[in-house]
Amino acid sequence: MSDNVTLCWICKKNAATTREHRIKHSDLRSIFGKFGRGLPFYYSDLQQPNQLVQSLNARLLKAPALICQDCNSARTQPHDRAWEHMSMWLRFRSMPLHIGGRVRGDKIFKYNAQKEMLNVHLFFLKLFGGMICEAAGGLPIPIEPFAEAIMANRFHREVYLQFGKGDGTVGILPAQAITLPGGHVIFIWMYRIGPVVVNVIYAQNGEYWENLDKTWHPKWGKTNFRVADLMGPR
Ligand SMILES: [Zn+2]
Repeated sequence: MSDNVTLCWICKKNAATTREHRIKHSDLRSIFGKFGRGLPFYYSDLQQPNQLVQSLNARLLKAPALICQDCNSARTQPHDRAWEHMSMWLRFRSMPLHIGGRVRGDKIFKYNAQKEMLNVHLFFLKLFGGMICEAAGGLPIPIEPFAEAIMANRFHREVYLQFGKGDGTVGILPAQAITLPGGHVIFIWMYRIGPVVVNVIYAQNGEYWENLDKTWHPKWGKTNFRVADLMGPR
């Protein structure tokens, strides 16, 4: 393989040829419809806040090629599907989400809730890993444990999720570092799809952040979580 071929960050075996959606296409389609009702919208990402998006296939909605075809399809398809299902469930349930309310994973996934919720965690690892690879100045987060977790179908011990009620906007709020009183740093980014927001948190083992107990992590062996207030400043 020649030097100018980028290897897939997940398997590190094949050439990275696949451009992945930064926001899942199915999430966008279900918000804007097949014909893009409500377009254009503003999208914020690592490079720039508030970019005007006129079509659901806009280039900026796709990451540069960072992973291979195998990893994007066979390997991570169950993760994509699990999120697709959970995302729809959260957005189209008969009772709207309310902040502080408890959601049961086994209501979202009638079968294999634990495994499916792990798949959701793995889906966000794929997005997070891509973001780390792509960050121009580099995010000081080791990528290797992300690749290992996806390859082995195991959780990443230091990545937590929070599911919350959103303010209706769509986009990625890029990773921000939060310095804790002890001087340690954790990173948080947000995946916003209309009424639902996912907060993705990287906190190294041993970090204490007061809000970690309001997050969900597969290592706790539970599928339940509380709806977080992620509507931003009002
Ligand atoms: Zn690969």
